[in-house]
Amino acid sequence: MERTLSIIKPDGVERKLVGEVVKRFEGAGIRIAAVKMVHLTKDQARLFYAVHRERPFFESLTEFMSSGPLVAMVLEGENVIQKNREIMGATNYKEAAPGTLRHDFATDIEKNVVHGSDAPQTANQEIAFFFNALEIS
Ligand code: UDP
Ligand code: MG
Repeated sequence: MERTLSIIKPDGVERKLVGEVVKRFEGAGIRIAAVKMVHLTKDQARLFYAVHRERPFFESLTEFMSSGPLVAMVLEGENVIQKNREIMGATNYKEAAPGTLRHDFATDIEKNVVHGSDAPQTANQEIAFFFNALEIS
């Protein structure tokens, strides 16, 4: 059984999309193994997205990710890293397939509603960023 980190970004929480996002995951047979609401500081957002620190969008992205509460979740299921990425859709909502979260709800390439880990190693790192072992069941 595989695990991945999902985040409902501050835009998704503010627009009351938490229920809709969870419904899509559960509807796809994915199990929620942990969930919490967190308001990151700017420095914590910088740490989480450290892989993108050289990119031109880094400052704006970390400002956005620390602008309000987000919902972090551990998703569990077979092939869930890829499954979650499929449910999310492409980074750029204009290229996201119909029926994906980003196609249906994103308003901007930055404010694209959800985050999902992209590989097993980043999934482990990102889960550990938000959750300790006792918080996952
Ligand atoms: N992002 C952005 N501008 C870009 C590319 C990405 O603002 O040109 C933001 C967007 O919120 C994206 C996040 O940075 O979700 C992380 O980028 P990544 O390439 O890892 O996309 P993801 O894995 O989220 O699809
Ligand atoms: Mg990414």
